[in-house]
Amino acid sequence: MKKERKKIEIRGIVQGVGFRPTVYRLARKYNLKGSVLNDSKGVTLDLEGYPEDIDSFLAELKKKPPPLSNIEEITSKKLVVENFHEFKIIESEKGEEKKTLVSPDIATCKDCERELLNSKDRRYLYPFINCTNCGPRFTITKELPYDRKYTTMKKFKMCEKCRDEYEDPEDRRFHAQPDACNDCGPHLEFLDKKGKKIEGNPIEKATQFLKEGKIVAVKGLGGFHLACNARDKKAVETLRERKKRPFKPLALMARNTSIISKFVHLSNEEKELLMSPRAPVVLLKKKGKCAIPENIAPNNKFLGFMLPYAPLHILLFQNLEVLVMTSGNRRDEPIAFDNKDAVKRLGHIADCFLVHDRDIWIQADDSIARVLDGETLLLRRSRGYAPEPIKSPLRNEKKIIGFGAHKHNTFSISRDDEIFVSHYIGETDNLETIKAFERGIKHFINFFDIPPDIAVVDLHPEYEATRFGKKWAEENKKTLIEIQHHHAHIASCLADNHLDEKVIGVAWDGTGYGADGKIWGGEFLIADLKSYERKAHLQYIPLPGGDAAVKEPWRMGATYLYKTFGKDFLNLDIDFVKKLDRKKWELIENMINKKVNSPQTSSIGRLFDAVSSIIGIRDSITYQGQAAIELEMIANETEKNFYEFDIQEKYDFHVIDPLGVIKSIVRDTKNRVSKSDISMKFHIGLADLIVNVSKILREQTGINKVCLSGGVFQNMILRSKASEKLKRNKFKVYNHRKIPPNDGGISAGQVAIAMSIE
Ligand SMILES: [Zn+2]
Ligand SMILES: [Zn+2]
Repeated sequence: MKKERKKIEIRGIVQGVGFRPTVYRLARKYNLKGSVLNDSKGVTLDLEGYPEDIDSFLAELKKKPPPLSNIEEITSKKLVVENFHEFKIIESEKGEEKKTLVSPDIATCKDCERELLNSKDRRYLYPFINCTNCGPRFTITKELPYDRKYTTMKKFKMCEKCRDEYEDPEDRRFHAQPDACNDCGPHLEFLDKKGKKIEGNPIEKATQFLKEGKIVAVKGLGGFHLACNARDKKAVETLRERKKRPFKPLALMARNTSIISKFVHLSNEEKELLMSPRAPVVLLKKKGKCAIPENIAPNNKFLGFMLPYAPLHILLFQNLEVLVMTSGNRRDEPIAFDNKDAVKRLGHIADCFLVHDRDIWIQADDSIARVLDGETLLLRRSRGYAPEPIKSPLRNEKKIIGFGAHKHNTFSISRDDEIFVSHYIGETDNLETIKAFERGIKHFINFFDIPPDIAVVDLHPEYEATRFGKKWAEENKKTLIEIQHHHAHIASCLADNHLDEKVIGVAWDGTGYGADGKIWGGEFLIADLKSYERKAHLQYIPLPGGDAAVKEPWRMGATYLYKTFGKDFLNLDIDFVKKLDRKKWELIENMINKKVNSPQTSSIGRLFDAVSSIIGIRDSITYQGQAAIELEMIANETEKNFYEFDIQEKYDFHVIDPLGVIKSIVRDTKNRVSKSDISMKFHIGLADLIVNVSKILREQTGINKVCLSGGVFQNMILRSKASEKLKRNKFKVYNHRKIPPNDGGISAGQVAIAMSIE
């Protein structure tokens, strides 16, 4: 039989994941000669051997690729036989197009953990151990291709032993770019709050400080955490005071899953997600008797847990069980990732710093996920997931950048049929976040070499991200497209489900700028990626004081009561009215009647706020969605009754009137029905409303598919009840999974819409 020679190109996540050593071993197994190289498009093989051997080689590679790789495409071309004598790995080259993908950061693998804790291993207790299958990737890579010289590891010169491993295709550290050891790699340091070095073993020092109830800023993979002993109520209180974060739940890290399961219920799927190489924070239901202090997640049924994902964490947990590990930032600012900056920004929060000299090039907050009906739902998509692209249902040669919205912001850039959704940036309303936003955008454009042709922004003229995007488009002379917020939500859900056809889109959230200049948030659209039609919405109501009404749900409570009962609501025999500050209310009433700073809103988020406040749960908030979340958390899961919303037809349009529901809630409150029952009746009522409006729209249009999107669908009760009821009524339901339903998904939706425009 005659030999043949083939050039084989492989695309996907194929760099930095042990692809070349796998190829090398397989080539030797099948006695193939030639070469393999990482180029800017992926991996290219030059293979020579008998045709059946080449076939077997490819079959085995496809069947058993390296665990962290993701092969998207393999193309092959015949070449003239050269009679090579060996198979070799060729050094990376820089190409013109950066078509390759870089893997997200990966939690420490079992092999590395074993070595880390083995006193005979040469990397015993070395906090930066990693291999081809684990370690930092995205956060240390400055540019592509993924090669040590383009990472922040460049400054560490490998010692001879590490070099040998790195160059040996049979070694599990073959071409592991961040490979290092105690002799040649990065090191830890322990600093006081002013940044002055404290002598001693940094891990031991940090452990001691944590045990004493101190707050330690710990530099991890994608940025700093603020850590304290989670069992120490006082330490948690101090952290909350210093971080000015009185209520928002704090993330936890525990040594292993058996410790986690002491505090929360843990299904197999949840356990798997916790232990996955992506290692997100997983929201888990507290056990009845939970020994974690209530102030970790006040008024919440869930705790967010993650496992140690860097060797440094594993070492810390040798003598500790469970720590608070919350993002190292000041309120609303981005996470700190640079040593000096961290000392400057966190010095008034942390008592000391556990730092190292491996620089983080781009920050990545912990991702947050939960398991629902056996599926993973991402609420924040960042470390472990970014910058892996999401496949769009459409392909467009034009490269598109979406600047997102405002809260939980991300940006997205498309190339062909891929949407690169950025790491989590945060609330783009302060200088630090805007700087991080700008830096992130520059990095992505340069990193993937995707100079965008089209810029997409939210319709809201006041969003910083909109201003920024408009300026960017002007300066770069690019086409600018403005997209309505709720259309972008539905588009993000369509993209997440790889769908492009007309659906009934239920877009419910707190705030989004409407096409009529009003504030939308309780919307039913008939939409595909290209366009949308608003078919129904919650009746408008004034938002007295604008943002102030968002921060003070009692304003919405009073406004809804005023609209329902008129001035007489002040005589209602309920606690809300009894404790209402009449002077403050007069001011609000004036604002409403004179239409001063009282924009109209159809927001379901604000309706949640109103109900939460009226039944006495929360009058003012300290983090986004607090009143609604606390209302969800008290819901009585066994209650079956519900409030019925009135749907009124206006031409070909429907308006939802919630005043009857408000009336029933007041009646129930007077009759001393428990808050838990009222909450559940309200939730089921909303689910019922979704079904009823969807039925009307199905009748009008024949469309049977429903997308649920917007921040309100982070509410698990509503999402479950609505999905369940819709399915029972023979609808096909699409929920979010990979793209968050909140505003973190807006940028992806914006890009998906622009991709549909020729
Ligand atoms: Zn490893
Ligand atoms: Zn070394």
